[in-house]
Amino acid sequence: MKNLDWANLSFGYMPTDYNVRCYYRDGKWGEVEVCSDEYLKLHMAATCLHYGQEAFEGLKAYRCPDGKVRLFRVEENAARLQRTSRGIVMPEVPTELFVEMAKKVVRLNQEYIPTYESGATLYLRPLLIGTSAQVGVHPAKEYIFLIFVTPVGPYFKGGFSTNPYVIMRDFDRAAPLGTGTFKVGGNYAASLRANQLAHEKGYASEFYLDSKEKKYVDECGAANFFGIKNKTYVTPLSSSILPSITNKSLMQIAEDLGMKVERRPIPEEELDTFEEAGACGTAAVISPISRLDDMETGKTYNFGEKPGLWSTKLYETLRGIQYGIIDDKHGWTTVVIE
Ligand SMILES: *Cc1c(COP(=O)(O)O)cnc(C)c1O
Repeated sequence: MKNLDWANLSFGYMPTDYNVRCYYRDGKWGEVEVCSDEYLKLHMAATCLHYGQEAFEGLKAYRCPDGKVRLFRVEENAARLQRTSRGIVMPEVPTELFVEMAKKVVRLNQEYIPTYESGATLYLRPLLIGTSAQVGVHPAKEYIFLIFVTPVGPYFKGGFSTNPYVIMRDFDRAAPLGTGTFKVGGNYAASLRANQLAHEKGYASEFYLDSKEKKYVDECGAANFFGIKNKTYVTPLSSSILPSITNKSLMQIAEDLGMKVERRPIPEEELDTFEEAGACGTAAVISPISRLDDMETGKTYNFGEKPGLWSTKLYETLRGIQYGIIDDKHGWTTVVIE
């Protein structure tokens, strides 16, 4: 293993030894190629550069206390990328190919998988882009699917903790019938200004209400939202939210823990009634929310300075499963290195 200061890594890019690539040409996927070049040679008229034919995924490989390395719900990432591909007219990467490449890139870079004790992990970034030239607005005929990896530091350096967020009404992340449910770069481009403003004002991230009416809770920056009250896990139902695999898993775990689960529109006023609230996604699992400020109305919603009881239980259970410590009764993990 590389001798690096794993615990002090940030969520940034660090070069590793290999990435894996597969090319789509003449209507089919080719052989998997192992590559040590960090660069891509692209046609200047490639559709990913002009018309946003770009989709990505994000998942982690965990070095576990039993010495094995596991991936979490990798087939779900494959399925989500297929859904995104249909959404922006790109060819689907078959699940078997996605999983094979994910395993391969982890094994090739095993020296970069952080130690269990550090709390750091190896982040996998699958990327699918349209590469052939088009000047008119049409989908490309050729594509590259690649996966690179980079070690990322522990999300909570000083232990599981809360953060403040801010509701911004001057920005929409995605339109109600737009690309919000697809993991595409365009949604991120639309969120960069709001995210920058939120950071400048000292918040962890911006918070979105629905784009159409600004009445319902949508997403918590680039993470899904959940609220908890009366032993009930409530998460928004919306046509512009990215279907988070972490959220899907938390809904199941909440049920397993004997909680009630509700997926439905959440009016902003209801925020006042939650005992706990959090953002969820692969990076942090759960990032509990201390406070949510509404810039326009001046209203503040408080959920406590410390992570709540249920948020902590959910967080510990999901992390326990990811690290092979808690029985994986739903078959969510894949051992990549024995
Ligand atoms: C990736 C992503 C999430 C979290 O999804 P996970 O599968 O849980 O990592 C949430 N919201 C947005 C906008 C995302 O891009």
